[in-house]
Amino acid sequence: MNNLTRLTLFPLFCLLWVSCKGQTTITSDFFKPKNLEEIVKALSSDEMRGRSVFDSVAINQAAEYIISEFEKAGLQYFENLPSYSQEFLYNANDKDYRLRNIVGIIPGKTKPQEYILFSAHYDHIGIIKGEVTDSIANGADDNASGVTSIIQLARYFSAQQENARTLVFVAFTAEEVGGKGSAYFAENVDPSKIVAMFNLEMVGKVSKFGKNTAYITGFKYSDVGKIMQKNLEGTKYKLFPDPYPNQQLFFRSDNAPLAHKGVPAHTLCTVEIDKDNTYHQVTDEWPLLDTENMSGLLKFIVLSTKTIINGEDTPQRIKSK
Ligand SMILES: [Zn+2]
Repeated sequence: MNNLTRLTLFPLFCLLWVSCKGQTTITSDFFKPKNLEEIVKALSSDEMRGRSVFDSVAINQAAEYIISEFEKAGLQYFENLPSYSQEFLYNANDKDYRLRNIVGIIPGKTKPQEYILFSAHYDHIGIIKGEVTDSIANGADDNASGVTSIIQLARYFSAQQENARTLVFVAFTAEEVGGKGSAYFAENVDPSKIVAMFNLEMVGKVSKFGKNTAYITGFKYSDVGKIMQKNLEGTKYKLFPDPYPNQQLFFRSDNAPLAHKGVPAHTLCTVEIDKDNTYHQVTDEWPLLDTENMSGLLKFIVLSTKTIINGEDTPQRIKSK
């Protein structure tokens, strides 16, 4: 480089530096697609046998994996829980199953009594009978992708230690049998403490709107979506209202029990639910996921939730009907 170019580039550099100041900096070693791939592969491996709640060995193996990741991220225990496990009994076909949500927190620096939830369910549907060559429904997109994302967010926010409000990371169990894990969680927390809930479900593929986009369910029920859109202005990321209103996705995922209690609780998604033919099939496997896009989505989440995490914005409650 000669002196002339250096001179002409210098003002440009100043301009860039000034415009970047004040924005959340996301260091480059975070959200590497390789790191995401490692976790998503482990959770959707054949050894996990599709993470069914009726397969105690498999579901506990997945739970232990998430616990070790929460530990590595340095998360603390939630409220009065003696560990990361929130246990409960689930009765089905006259049998009791001991299940657990996995919960960890990063205490808020100035508003520790105000919670923001990042959640994703880790159970899936197990083995599909009658399939010949492969019978394991690996659930890579549904929902190893969401769990991988909250683990990465936990690592990120834990390294930053800048959150004004308390961040609560929850890996729910028993979503596939009717949202039992999130219902139990909702019954055992004071909903007035929860400022917002971001549930991540099926975020491993590119949405119908293209790369670097996602949609939010129940957009009209609170102003969470609008706040996120405002925070994404000027970035390459775009948030859309759920384009599949007939699918009732707002009521079909783990955000629903807390939304019913007035919490601005929504699900972020990228799946093309009307045409994804791997949905609940043995073909929902990790090579079909786009970890590059997933990694972008994590930056999307950090940027779009920033003012809610730092206490600047407080979303409206959802009005119970
Ligand atoms: Zn599912």
